[in-house]
Amino acid sequence: MASAERYFKGRIFDGKDIFEEGWVGISKEGIIAEVGEGKFPHTGQDIIEGKDLTILPGLIDAHMHFFGCRYEDIAEWNLISGELASIRSVTDMRNLLMAGFTTVRDLGSKTAIHLAQAEIEGDITGPNVIASGHSLAQTGGNDDLKILPLDMAKALSYSYYCDGPWECVSAVRKVIREGGTVIKVYASGGFAAGNRPLPNLTVEELKAIVDEGHRSGVKVTAHAYGEEALNNVIDAGVDSIEHGIGLTEDIAERIRKAGIYYIPTMSVYMAEKDNQGRLDLLPRIRGKSRVNRSEIVNRHVTKEIEIARDAGLKIVMGTDFVGAENSRHGDNAIEIERLSRYLGPAKALTASTSLAAECVGLQNSGRIKNGYSADLVVVKGNSLKDIRRVRKDAVKYVAHGSRIFDIDAINQMV
Ligand SMILES: [Zn+2]
Repeated sequence: MASAERYFKGRIFDGKDIFEEGWVGISKEGIIAEVGEGKFPHTGQDIIEGKDLTILPGLIDAHMHFFGCRYEDIAEWNLISGELASIRSVTDMRNLLMAGFTTVRDLGSKTAIHLAQAEIEGDITGPNVIASGHSLAQTGGNDDLKILPLDMAKALSYSYYCDGPWECVSAVRKVIREGGTVIKVYASGGFAAGNRPLPNLTVEELKAIVDEGHRSGVKVTAHAYGEEALNNVIDAGVDSIEHGIGLTEDIAERIRKAGIYYIPTMSVYMAEKDNQGRLDLLPRIRGKSRVNRSEIVNRHVTKEIEIARDAGLKIVMGTDFVGAENSRHGDNAIEIERLSRYLGPAKALTASTSLAAECVGLQNSGRIKNGYSADLVVVKGNSLKDIRRVRKDAVKYVAHGSRIFDIDAINQMV
């Protein structure tokens, strides 16, 4: 066991339990080597302390995208070059880490696999990235830029289009080959022009994806809007459900029984609401369907989160932020605040730390425990009493691996 070299002192939320006074010692290799409750027992040590600090596990956003785009605009997401997306995402990576996010899960983009590698190799500063590489979608499905001829849309997309179980299996293998560490599948469209979101891919196709993903040792997560798609992904055996719009009590019960994580991504819908002029560019949500859309969204961010909570679902924090003007990376903690309104601060923090780590398959992060990675965020104030104390302006220190960032000092440098 490595010995502690530096210590943080303060209030501790360890991912599950709260200690009003305690300390965390981290080794020079970036491992948590000591955690204690009560008065600090050592003398003559390298201690980082301050008035009214709370030490939390590093935050996790289980659903986001490094699109490197300025707008919530499907055309821009598809048309942007991988190079520009990568360059802009280097800044997003840094902003995420300085805001206390030590792990993010990118569910489809042109650059996340490369960002993940560059971060591990120390070329860029940012959170640990779990990356799906290409997402999987059916031809003509969600995020297919249908104004383009199919061949062009396919070539530009951050999704692999796959139709039929064997193409689905092959698409999973391609994602694994390119270095993907999670499989993301679109099991429905977004907001359809009709009365209900259209399911995408059959249960047979979804099962093929889940089985091949699991055979390769990675988790499979599904974008699902609408009851039909939700039932399909439960039948297929996915590990988590993204958005989960259209949740009913019956479906929540099925999700609970199956042990599937539920990631409501409330913040992206609020961001979209502020961005409606842009969304008018999308022909599929013009006119009548807009009314339907806001009703669906309003129900999702109020009633459905209550259904999920009351059913005892494993609710996990994910923003679906893409780094656009209204969904900037670094502002992701807004989702923790939104969750807190329904779950309370401690559960909202759990949703972004220990439970999120379980959901994304991290064995050694999301808790403040001996032997875990020294992924920590230290905030000014008591986030357990005032959840706004997880916003980036409350962040004082971030520890990620063997590095400790003094955020005030970094901001002063600028
Ligand atoms: Zn997404």
